[in-house]
Amino acid sequence: MLNNEHLKKSMTLNSKIPGGPLEKKWSSHKFNMKLVNPANRRKYKIIVVGTGLAGSSVAATLGELGYNVHSFSFHESPRRAHSIAAQGGINAPKNYSNDGDSVYRLFYDTIKGGDYRAREGNVYRLAEVSGSIIDQCVAQGVPFARDYAGYLDNRSFGGAQVARTFYARGQTGQQLLLGAYSALNRQIDAGTVKFYERREMLDLVLVEGKARGIVARNLINGKIESYTADAVVLATGGYGNAFFLSTNAKASNATAIWRAHKKGAFFANPCYTQIHPTCIPVTGEHQSKLTLMSESLRNDGRVWVPKKKGDTRAAKDIPDNERDYYLERLYPSFGNLVPRDVASRRAKEMCDNGYGVGQSKMAVYLDFADAIKRLGRESVFQKYGNLLDMYKQITGEDPYQAPMRIYPAVHYTMGGLWVDYNLMSTIPGLFVLGEANFSDHGANRLGASALMQGLADGYFIAPYTISDYLASNKFAPVKEDRQEFKEAENTVTGTINKLLGIDGKKSVDEFHREYGKVMWDYVGMGRNKAGLQKALKLLPEIRERFWKEVKITGNAHDINTELEKAQRVADFMELGELIAIDALHREESCGGHFREEYQTEEGEAKRNDKRFAYVAAWEFTGKTAKPKLNKEPLNFEEVHPSQRSYK
Ligand SMILES: Cc1cc2nc3c(=O)[nH]c(=O)nc-3n(C[C@H](O)[C@H](O)[C@H](O)COP(=O)(O)OP(=O)(O)OC[C@H]3O[C@@H](n4cnc5c(N)ncnc54)[C@H](O)[C@@H]3O)c2cc1C
Repeated sequence: MLNNEHLKKSMTLNSKIPGGPLEKKWSSHKFNMKLVNPANRRKYKIIVVGTGLAGSSVAATLGELGYNVHSFSFHESPRRAHSIAAQGGINAPKNYSNDGDSVYRLFYDTIKGGDYRAREGNVYRLAEVSGSIIDQCVAQGVPFARDYAGYLDNRSFGGAQVARTFYARGQTGQQLLLGAYSALNRQIDAGTVKFYERREMLDLVLVEGKARGIVARNLINGKIESYTADAVVLATGGYGNAFFLSTNAKASNATAIWRAHKKGAFFANPCYTQIHPTCIPVTGEHQSKLTLMSESLRNDGRVWVPKKKGDTRAAKDIPDNERDYYLERLYPSFGNLVPRDVASRRAKEMCDNGYGVGQSKMAVYLDFADAIKRLGRESVFQKYGNLLDMYKQITGEDPYQAPMRIYPAVHYTMGGLWVDYNLMSTIPGLFVLGEANFSDHGANRLGASALMQGLADGYFIAPYTISDYLASNKFAPVKEDRQEFKEAENTVTGTINKLLGIDGKKSVDEFHREYGKVMWDYVGMGRNKAGLQKALKLLPEIRERFWKEVKITGNAHDINTELEKAQRVADFMELGELIAIDALHREESCGGHFREEYQTEEGEAKRNDKRFAYVAAWEFTGKTAKPKLNKEPLNFEEVHPSQRSYK
């Protein structure tokens, strides 16, 4: 249970945001940072864990700069990373649509969209470098959609009134990753990057207080291997699978960041979880993952429920005047393109109040009938074809004939390891990029901005800040036979042996499902004090049973996916408690963190800026249930925090 004592002893964190005017911070910081002479770069060894958009882009860029880069992934190929799943697009304020976009507007939308819980300095930099990402990707051959004149096409995403989202049909992540993967392969071929496939990082190694290497398991033969470096980068993705059911790839997990947390890296805002409004609804106990229907569909699709409670008529039999297009009704300015947190809460509210559709009544409609009438089927197919096909393949229903049924699901984690402006964690030499860091999105990420952030971190920010770190520090040579590596190897082997030795009766998945259900029911879309306290009683009980009753087949010296899963689930079972502790301490609602006790009369999230305008950075104290809270105050000099309105 949360003991409030430790909240009083919190320390204040320094984000190292440079001074000066907002629009000059990054350029003057870049100038002030130290450089490494090209001839000296090959002497520095950098480990990059993860080959999604953040990891591939940083490894390729550091390789191109001439550093000695070692890239790790548990996949057999960099291009299997979860980033490949991203559908809808990537933001940049190029203003090709001539609709009034600018760097400042993207900055403003993102700060507001994140419910005033993000850093102004970081967000402005993100908006500033985003245009270069598009140029870089086009140069790599990423086939972005184009308009009739041949210019890159744009569409809109939630929380914006301009069209600034660049896309490659519904496969933007895949195309961007192919670009980054090509850049990475070029460096592998050039010998600047060495890729270690099927290696799972299981511990971070510190020498004299600095990150100096990792311990990884070779997933093919089970060998525990140590790797040294001068700096370590984690780009290992998000932890939405702590909830079991999510839109994340099944393999996405928190192990790398959680184990780094246990070695001293603070974990920031763990409770900020994004629930995406448009996912294919849960149909029963058999599912092991959920499928996203991209937010891009809300450009043309209309969300509605019947006006009559418990209406059992088929959608086609419900006339227009008996339908409630509730997002258009409640938010006339943004309509169906309100941000995800808002759309999710409203969908849940509709279903909770008895207006849900489909057999389970836990769904709302997303309807393309008007778009097909207005634009024609072919045009809808051109824009969204692969997404609509996917819906049909999964549900057996044709979205060109009847509206899709959608319901919110866990999708993205805004929390992650705390990093300063240089993307360095509280462990010197440990940099964290992409979804794995606590990032620039505040309490709610706007659509199409995760790809932007991952690539901004990897192509345009970390290469500068890592160089500065290397140039500013001295590195005594370290070898894998040092005590610190041996100790980490022993810890990893000990955990594996302990897990294999339990020999209980329940599978890893059974425990994960049970844990995820508690997370969803009490730490999910609607949270309240009593529910969170209940979760903090139930979650440790499940964790304790897991360590007594789990059954893992196979052994440690071979491919063993059950063993891999067990370690990841064991870590989720510690992280889940931290998520609940963070959600309980934050006595306000903001963005995706909705505490039912704190809402406006209209049911919107009600912040408490006086008490909670800070980043909550949790420090591991040796016991999962007793983390220490440290705070980074958030200062708003440009944008005045106010009640978000999308009306
Ligand atoms: C269905 C879906 C659609 C999305 N669509 C969009 C979109 O349209 N636009 C948008 O902006 N965002 C979108 N997102 C979010 C976005 O895709 C992700 O936030 C982003 O791709 C994460 O990239 P990443 O590089 O941080 O991590 P990932 O792509 O998750 O990569 C993580 C990497 O780390 C490796 N790894 C992890 N742990 C270890 C370990 N312990 N040891 C070794 N390797 C490890 C993995 O092998 C992988 O290579 C979507 C997300 C989902 C789920």
